[in-house]
Amino acid sequence: MPATDLDQIVNLCKRRGFVFPSAEIYGGFRSTYDYGPLGATMLRNVREAWIRSMVQLRNDVVLIDAAILGPPAVYEASGHLANFTDPLVDCRNCKQRFRADQLPDSSQCPSCGAKGSFTEARAFNLMFKTFAGPVEGEGSEVFLRPETAQGMFVNFANVLQSTRKRPPFGIAQVGKSFRNEITPGNFVFRTREFEQMELEFFVPPADAPRWYEYWCAERFRWYVELGIPEAMLRLRPHDPDELSHYSAGTSDVEFAYPWGWGELEGIANRTDYDLSQHARHSGEKLDYFDQATNERYRPYVIEPAAGATRAMMAFLLAAYDEDEIGGEARTVLRLHPRLAPYKVAILPLSKKEPLGALAREVAAGLRTRYMVDEDDTQSIGRRYRRQDEIGTPLCVTVDFASLEDRAVTIRDRDSTEQVRVAIDDLPAELVGRLGF
Ligand code: ATP
Repeated sequence: MPATDLDQIVNLCKRRGFVFPSAEIYGGFRSTYDYGPLGATMLRNVREAWIRSMVQLRNDVVLIDAAILGPPAVYEASGHLANFTDPLVDCRNCKQRFRADQLPDSSQCPSCGAKGSFTEARAFNLMFKTFAGPVEGEGSEVFLRPETAQGMFVNFANVLQSTRKRPPFGIAQVGKSFRNEITPGNFVFRTREFEQMELEFFVPPADAPRWYEYWCAERFRWYVELGIPEAMLRLRPHDPDELSHYSAGTSDVEFAYPWGWGELEGIANRTDYDLSQHARHSGEKLDYFDQATNERYRPYVIEPAAGATRAMMAFLLAAYDEDEIGGEARTVLRLHPRLAPYKVAILPLSKKEPLGALAREVAAGLRTRYMVDEDDTQSIGRRYRRQDEIGTPLCVTVDFASLEDRAVTIRDRDSTEQVRVAIDDLPAELVGRLGF
């Protein structure tokens, strides 16, 4: 059973070092989080699984890493300065602020219960503004990017010229984005600083509907392949009145969060809106000349936009399970091996030498390939439980017999089955079990 209560994950994340509230020793910094040793490792795995699927295993997508700070001109052109707003209302009674479109009842304050106490909704721009250079003021204003996408659009011509790619092709990017959300919450589901994984896939306009369908299916499949049960996912096409003005089609991959269905990723056919806007504002020709047909055209863009931090939370929720082993309750994260922070834990049965030395030797032999944990504290049973709780797919136990027969015991997280394997055969055995 996946987690039914968000606190199950929040507590595990804190206890085991996945995610900590930020600046906690100073009382915390609201809705901001730090990724601890396991969380940083898992987030890296989420990123790498995305890059592997979107870039490495294809020949039509390249990766970039654009700046986080950007000049107003970019966001003037993209429309973010004018339109990247949420409707904000204040409760006149308790002074709390809310996103008008997220109120369960627009006539009653969810905080103090006052009726009819809301101000008129006003547009609140979600971009963080700061100043570059020593002089604060007009002319030195810069913005923290609210999405990674603009980095791909403003580098469209650079990538075309430097890589010789031609449509259909994509530019991918993973990195932090910042939005001054009115109501962050639900742990890392909605935060003001978060990480995105976005692809802008440029196609001939006539082919856009087909590529849109392709990316919807492809992105849904990615979550399923990495272990989220299909029953916890759905693809929801936006109603016509929900669509952004430039979109010719948008679908969300939604996940069954403990509080209900919510967005995990959005896939949109953005037409030629972004390239046209930047072409107009920059004066650059952002189009493509097809030498084969002697035609010049402005590509349409299909954009699958995912959240890395939000996806990590969904993977944790889906992987969470509680079961019983030999009459004893255990918590287990059934994470896909690619996402698990550690792939293998090496557990010497005793701290005594020369067992420790043999365990270190086995661990060192596997480290060049995998993230390996070593643990020689407490009873073996408690060490298995700890590895189960952090999602380590395989434990390797080094016991006194190992000194004689140079064999070790592999224990599987999900089945708890144990098999004896020669140390020399361990690398091949692990590849077989982990799949890489
Ligand atoms: P919402 O309507 O929920 O504010 P959105 O539709 O504006 O989200 P997009 O702009 O499509 O979101 O962003 C793409 C993805 O980035 C989202 O599906 C989500 O996974 C992630 N994301 C967006 N905003 C946040 C946030 N504040 N915190 C964490 N992840 C976010």
